[in-house]
Formats: sequence, structure tokens, C-alpha cells
Amino acid sequence: MKIAIIGAGAAGLFAAYYASNHNQVTVFEKNDIAGKKLRLTGNGRLNYSNADLSMSHYEHSYGLVDPDFLQSMFLEDDCKLIDSVIGEDGNMEFTRFFETIGVRTTKIGDCFYPYMERAGEVSDILYEVLLRKGVEFRFGSEIKEIIKNDTERFVINGEIFDKVILTTGGKAAPKTGSDGGGYKLARSFGHSVTYTYPVLVALEILKEIGEKLAGVRIKGTVSGYVDGEKISSSKGEIQFTNNTISGICVFQLSRRLTKPIEEGRSVEVSCDLLDDVKDEELSDYIEKRDKLLGDLPLGEFIKGLVPEKISEYILDVISSGEGFDGADETTKRMLFFKALKNLRFTIMGHAGYENAQCTRGGVVLSEIGENMESKLCPGLFFAGEMVDVDGDCGGYNLQWAFSSGKVAGSSAGENA
Ligand SMILES: Cc1cc2nc3c(=O)[nH]c(=O)nc-3n(C[C@H](O)[C@H](O)[C@H](O)COP(=O)(O)OP(=O)(O)OC[C@H]3O[C@@H](n4cnc5c(N)ncnc54)[C@H](O)[C@@H]3O)c2cc1C
Repeated sequence: MKIAIIGAGAAGLFAAYYASNHNQVTVFEKNDIAGKKLRLTGNGRLNYSNADLSMSHYEHSYGLVDPDFLQSMFLEDDCKLIDSVIGEDGNMEFTRFFETIGVRTTKIGDCFYPYMERAGEVSDILYEVLLRKGVEFRFGSEIKEIIKNDTERFVINGEIFDKVILTTGGKAAPKTGSDGGGYKLARSFGHSVTYTYPVLVALEILKEIGEKLAGVRIKGTVSGYVDGEKISSSKGEIQFTNNTISGICVFQLSRRLTKPIEEGRSVEVSCDLLDDVKDEELSDYIEKRDKLLGDLPLGEFIKGLVPEKISEYILDVISSGEGFDGADETTKRMLFFKALKNLRFTIMGHAGYENAQCTRGGVVLSEIGENMESKLCPGLFFAGEMVDVDGDCGGYNLQWAFSSGKVAGSSAGENA
């Protein structure tokens, strides 16, 4: 059987591996190398999975074209699909896989990595293994059209294939090749594609504020608010640049915020930079510090608590607010600490697909069967980020790409 795979990213490479037993597999890739994005993952370390693969880490689009469709066709079945594709021990499955191709692995915290933490070398090995399995790569081949002929087979650039697996990725990091072009191919077979949004992305704050905080890295808990309502929270290292707030915890939050941002709703992020002290413990906390350092003026009293840029910024904010001038030292201290626990930033935008790690949205799940085959066009399969599934930071998106690639490849190759 002749199988075409469009896109040599994480999903395409795994699909090729599992499709290639007893089949002739051709991978079309517009770049001149395989796994261009895979090589960048995990800061070049390839965080491929996570110890906790519960479904709460995955979501799919909240932005379908037709909101009624969203109400009626969503949710339970789609979650079942994601769950069954990832399987009970998805993380161990690929750990074993890597070991069979001679790549040792390691777990750091909950995250799985290749032992050497070198994404580029792992991509090279995977490519070499595929060549040895007889997979043919056509680099520099951007596929713009696939036609199904009268014999129900697929024609790509005049060549005939029995099955096609689309693994063209989403729109995130378009410099790596995934620019959303694959959605057109899916649509040409009648598939619906949801609105898409960049996720796992930095959020923009006012430039005047960013310039004051640029370079700061600080631990804390960030919470996202849409139209004043708290949407979700995440804990970790918060980073500031000239015009953005970022860090893994902000990336996680971005999954809930990029859509409201694009809709022009009011979006804010609050940072709790004293998250080890509960709100109700704040007075006690200040009192203890008061006993030791109570004679110091505010600027001195707060020294060493947070990076100087943050304390200077908070002092700026509270001193220009109501009730500061003329207030006693205790009140000023309370204002400072309250700001430290709820430092709010108005979100002006997001840093775009160019800087995003993932795409929310894609080919609608309800049109895809459990074996990742199209319910509309037999012989056509999907895998990876082009499907409407996205996961948290921490190896969830590669896990999805690998698992769905495996299921699509095995099913298309009838090796399941
Ligand atoms: C900087 C960065 C770091 C990341 N780190 C992690 C991480 O540590 N852990 C994690 O789980 N996830 C991570 N991700 C997310 C993860 O890399 C992606 O979700 C995953 O690679 C998606 O795999 P894919 O095969 O579906 O798509 P892609 O890897 O985007 O591959 C799609 C391929 O298809 C090709 N293509 C597209 N259209 C066509 C066409 N028409 N014809 C021919 N070829 C085409 C593209 O050139 C591309 O090579 C990261 C993402 C980025 C950008």
C-alpha cells in the first residue's frame, strides 16, 4: 500500500514509523529537514511527555465557527477520543519507543526528556531510523492540493496514493513551516476547521510598565481575569520583557486568555508575589516584620522582599493612588503588601503565532474517528497540532503529536 504523509514534524515522523511496516511511505515536507520544530522543543531539550497525563491538561477549541455547533457536538465524545488516543500509559509507551531506537530517557520532576536532553540529535536519530525502515522523504515539497480520484485513491502532484495522513501542524511558530496551510487541505475534503488562537504565548502589557520591569524573573502565582471575573491561576516563574509578561505559568494562563483578548474584552493578569502568605495571614506577617524593622521608612522596610524593580514599581503605583499621601507608615506598609499580593496588569494583546508554542483550534474532532481517520473521507487521516486539541506546557503537546501520529500511522498502514 502507498501512503503519503504531509508534514515531517513530530506527528508526521511518528505516523511514518508506524505506517511503514509492510507499506511504502512517502513523507512530503516543505522544509529541507525533518522535525524543524521538534528540534526547538523544551528549549532544545525535547520535553516529550509528563507523568500526569490526566485529561484536565488537554482542551479543545472554545471558538468554533458556529456557536450552536459548539453547544451540540462537543465535549464528552471528544474527550474520549483524546483519552483513547493517548492511552493508559502514553508516557511509558514513548519512553519504551525511545529506548528501542537507542535513545535513553530521563524524568525531571514530572517531565520526560531524552537523557542527553538534545532535541536536535534525537530528531536526527528518528530520521535515520525512518530511512532504514524504507520511508522516503521529499523535502522542499509544499503540498497545496490533494485530489481523490474515481478509484477512491489520492492524487498528489500526479502520483497516486492509497492513504493520506495530514500532519501539517497548526499556525504556531510559522518559521518552522506550520503556517495553517494544512487547514485548506482538510477543508478541501469537507472538514470543518474552528477559529484558531495562539496559545502558550507571552502576553503584552503596557510598554511604559514593561520598560520599568524588563529583565525581572520572580516566583509567584498568576491569575487571569476576563471582564473582572477570575478565569484561572498558575504558579511558577514570572518573567518580564520590555512589553510582555511571560514564563511557563503565564503561558498556561494564555490558553484561557488569547480568545478574550482577540474579542477585545477586558483582560487582566494579577500576580501574587507573596503567594506563600495567605491573605488572612498578611497582617500577622507584616506585624512580625514590624517588630524587627518597624523603625525603618517604607523604602527600607521592604528591602530584600522582591527584586528592586518590582518594589520601585509598586511604590510608584501606590504612592500615586488614593489614600497614600498623609497615611501613616502602617497603612503604607499594608498598601505595599496588598499590591505585592495582587499586582495587576492590563493585558494589551498577545505575542502572536510567531512567538507561540501551540495553536488552539483546528480540524474538528467530531469529524474524526478513534483511529484518527476522517469520518467524511475514508483513507484520509489526521494527527498532531492540526487537530483541535491543545495541551498544557510540560510535554502534553508532543505526547499528543506522538500518540495521534502513532494511531494514524498504525491505522492507515493497517498495522494496528
Ligand atoms: C519553541 C517551541 C517549544 C516547544 N516545546 C515543547 C515541549 O517541550 N513539549 C511539548 O510537548 N510541546 C512543545 N511544543 C509544541 C510542539 O512542538 C508541537 O505541538 C508539535 O511539534 C506539533 O507537532 P506536529 O507534527 O503536529 O506539527 P509541526 O511540528 O508543526 O510539524 C508540521 C510540519 O508540516 C510541514 N508542513 C506544513 N504544511 C505543509 C504542506 N502543505 N506541505 C508539506 N509540508 C507541510 C511543516 O513544515 C512542519 O514541518 C513547542 C513548540 C514550540 C514552537
